[in-house]
Amino acid sequence: MELTKSAALFSSARNLIPGGVNSPVRACGSVGGEPVFIEKGEGARIFDADGNTYIDYVLSWGPLILGHRPAPVVEALKKVLESGTSFGAPTALENKLAQLVVDSVASVDMIRMVNSGTEATMSAIRLARGVTGRDLIVKFDGCYHGHADTLLVAAGSGVATLGIPGSPGVPADVIRNTLSLPYNDIQSFERLMADRGKEIACVILEPVAGNMGMVAPDPLFLKVLRQQTAAYGSLLIFDEVMTGFRVGGRACAQGYFDIDPDLTCFGKVIGGGLPVGAYGGKREIMQQIAPGGSIYQAGTLSGNPLAMAAGIATLKTLENDQLYADMDRRADMLIKGLQAAADEANIPFSAGHFGSMAGFFFTGRKVRNFNDAKTCDLDRFAKFYRGMLAKGIYLAPSQFEACFISAAHTDEDIETTLDAARKVMTEI
Ligand code: PMP
Repeated sequence: MELTKSAALFSSARNLIPGGVNSPVRACGSVGGEPVFIEKGEGARIFDADGNTYIDYVLSWGPLILGHRPAPVVEALKKVLESGTSFGAPTALENKLAQLVVDSVASVDMIRMVNSGTEATMSAIRLARGVTGRDLIVKFDGCYHGHADTLLVAAGSGVATLGIPGSPGVPADVIRNTLSLPYNDIQSFERLMADRGKEIACVILEPVAGNMGMVAPDPLFLKVLRQQTAAYGSLLIFDEVMTGFRVGGRACAQGYFDIDPDLTCFGKVIGGGLPVGAYGGKREIMQQIAPGGSIYQAGTLSGNPLAMAAGIATLKTLENDQLYADMDRRADMLIKGLQAAADEANIPFSAGHFGSMAGFFFTGRKVRNFNDAKTCDLDRFAKFYRGMLAKGIYLAPSQFEACFISAAHTDEDIETTLDAARKVMTEI
């Protein structure tokens, strides 16, 4: 596979942009390679600067649930460009996207748009602290909630991939109020609540974790979180930046697991590939945000027309249940096929999916938390990643990430992927 143009672009990028990338995992360092530079996307495929084609299971890290350049989103963007790109004043489009989310997600009465998942979680945490008058927050090891100071503790995604415990530049004083516990560990959570429950402003988690690889929650764990937070007057925040409108369809992961969080963070899918985040929840809580309330949060480009139009077109298209059913079935084909290929090659492997969010680990054990995930054979993952890339299959370049199926993936795409996997598994 020819990658000379990508190599030249990466070389000049490294002089201009730290590490050559605008977000760390893109550098592909942990899998011992360099990134391919993408020129174009169409449906389930991306095309790099050297003219190579890949079936894409990254989908811009989740947002592109309809694939690249879906017609409804392209049309909506063209149309909105005729009117303007940003006004810094309210538009009807903001009402429309808010309404679509409120109508779909049972726990959300009101929603505030921001520009990224990081902003959504950061703002939700401030709101929870403001509302409760408490400082302590609880998160779980291996969950990633963006790069705000308070949340960069035992974080997943790029922090896990790079193997750094937190980040220099985050004052110890700031993270003194962040407690991180093992995911799915009911006992340690109950112990903490018994000790300090009345000091805890909120508990935030990914309802299906996707940033330590994909890790399923124990449904009882989610129930206990809901019961205990309610008992101690702490807020429960579901970070559905990745799972929102993907796991559990339009009802999101909270609908799938039948849990009613106080606040929910969104991003990715609700922006249809443009920069969007949002946080929403119970009316009495959301009304405490400025200007109605005193808890401050703002944004120059928040709710901008391009982002709203892409999000509206995406969520409207997702009103077709068949799309979710097809993605679920294809994710199942993919995961079962990968497991069979690994079994055939005698490679310890475990895999799963929730709807179109999928994950696999090079370990024989069932992965229930970050410690389990860290037992994976990272060398073998790196070989698998490179082997698949060479065969035109674009996976996330880290064992600690999920993979995604879009409505544009076909049965044939999955078969092509599995053909590649069967060959690569015998070589690693
Ligand atoms: N929360 C979760 C669950 C995420 O997966 C991510 C990003 N992968 C974020 C928050 C942060 O979102 P962003 O990168 O848009 O700031």
